Amino acid sequence: MQTTIMTVEEIRALATDTLRAHGCDEANAAAIAENMTQAERAGAASHGLFRLAGHVTNLKNGRANGAAKPILEKLGPATLRVNGDGGFAPLAQKIGLDPLAEAARETGIAALAITRTMHYAALWPEVSVLAEQGLAAMAMTSSPPFVAPAGGTKPFFGTNPMAFAWPRKDAAPMVWDQAASVTARGEVMLHKMAGKPMPDGSGLDADGNPTTDPDAILTGAQLPFGGYKGASLALMIDLMAGPLIGEVCSFEAGPPNNTLGGPSEGGEIILAFDPTHFAGAGALDHGERLFEALLTQEGTRLPGARRGPAREKSDQEGVAIANETLAKIQALGS
Ligand code: NDP
Repeated sequence: MQTTIMTVEEIRALATDTLRAHGCDEANAAAIAENMTQAERAGAASHGLFRLAGHVTNLKNGRANGAAKPILEKLGPATLRVNGDGGFAPLAQKIGLDPLAEAARETGIAALAITRTMHYAALWPEVSVLAEQGLAAMAMTSSPPFVAPAGGTKPFFGTNPMAFAWPRKDAAPMVWDQAASVTARGEVMLHKMAGKPMPDGSGLDADGNPTTDPDAILTGAQLPFGGYKGASLALMIDLMAGPLIGEVCSFEAGPPNNTLGGPSEGGEIILAFDPTHFAGAGALDHGERLFEALLTQEGTRLPGARRGPAREKSDQEGVAIANETLAKIQALGS
């Protein structure tokens, strides 16, 4: 795959300028561009510039509101909602996260429902922001139907990701963030772009036969990780990010709005916990003892540990962006 090295600043500028040229106002363009830039910086190409053409398509076809003005409502002492006004998720998240943290510190646990947004992004940024403020956090969102349920062969669940973060005293938070499918959909699309097969067990073709051909998986179905166990997580995430907050489930989301990886409509639930609420001031030290014990085994590492070095490398050496991705962005015109 041919690539071009871009600095982090160039990535941010390209995303911001492209979004503004196609109907995003300043606040929305900045929030979405920051999200894509941080994905590229952390080595998560599946949620970086690769998604830009899909976003612009949603702006052009009127599915997304580039000038969305998300509205924050307090529903109860520990429950909040941001109505995203039909825009992309990053600005709605930005508006809701500080009030969520404040509510969790007051009550020990709080929940933020994000509704009426288009969600495409990795979930680690929002749980990281909360853990950097000393809170444990979970986030879940559903996506259009791409994943066969256990025993089935047709798309039913979204790739439905979930993320968890735990604060640390003298280190970056421990964060994991994973799809309920073997990989995110963007990974299948990137494998297709690179002409590479997917790992065994990633998906089925349109006739329900196992395949590693990314093209066949894109027209067939992805598979949940760990068989029925991943499928049950996808089911929980559908319920938590759908019926619980009055948003659509994967099966109701319909097909994606375009074939360029652009997001579809949906919601997100974010939960924040104050670790000192139940266990007192020792909670974080106890967490550190768990990490320390785990890491005594050779070959182990904490989830999220890859991102720190990836960010440093990107800052120093830039990021390799696929020329095909850049050509798609260029073809959007201005
Ligand atoms: P990966 O399988 O790449 O990684 C999943 C998690 O496992 C990461 O936190 C990773 O940490 C951790 N991990 C990997 N290897 C190890 C190891 N050896 N030891 C400990 N932890 C490890 O992610 P997915 O492909 O499942 O998902 C990719 C992204 O796609 C996610 O950010 C997800 O939110 C996003 N997504 C978004 C959707 C949406 O609709 N908004 C839909 C589906 C996915 P590390 O980063 O350090 O490697």
